[in-house]
Amino acid sequence: MPDELKAKIRDIQDFPKPGIAFKDITTLLRDASCFNRAVDLLGHRYLEKPIDVVLGIEARGFIIGAALAYKLNRGVILVRKPGKLPYKTHSATYQLEYGSDTLEIHQDAIEPGQRVLIADDVLATGGTVRAVVDLVQQMGGEVVECAFLSELSFLNGRAKLPSVPVYSLIQF
Ligand code: AMP
Repeated sequence: MPDELKAKIRDIQDFPKPGIAFKDITTLLRDASCFNRAVDLLGHRYLEKPIDVVLGIEARGFIIGAALAYKLNRGVILVRKPGKLPYKTHSATYQLEYGSDTLEIHQDAIEPGQRVLIADDVLATGGTVRAVVDLVQQMGGEVVECAFLSELSFLNGRAKLPSVPVYSLIQF
């Protein structure tokens, strides 16, 4: 079944930069049965797991994270790009191939001891989710797992997360 879903993700060559093959999930999301199945399959994995809250990473992670949270009957919290969150924030800056990026979370988004499921659309190099894991842990949260709709296995992003469980529904 994930093969059908995999076929729904479209490759866009040289986006956003030359040399990058962008995994465009909008073609999967717009198909009702594929979106439904993808969320059900991911969500099923966590039905019996002790999760207090689901965290979505801007921007496509909001879609996966919010749908998962609804299925699991949990709340959803947001990690956003700088300057988007209105209340006091904690931030994490991490290195990209060229330069750096920053992500923010509300200071009261996670209570110490809360068990957090992190959700995003694509695991690539792992830099983004590494920064998010650090934020959650610094706030006293426990990362139950990082869940991705898809994973670019050849980039070995998992290597950046040696001590955190990682799951992806679809692998490229
Ligand atoms: P990374 O930090 O390299 O794991 O990149 C992860 C973030 O960038 C995710 O939020 C993805 O949405 C996005 N991303 C990175 N590479 C790709 C790609 N080839 N196709 C689609 N999204 C990507």
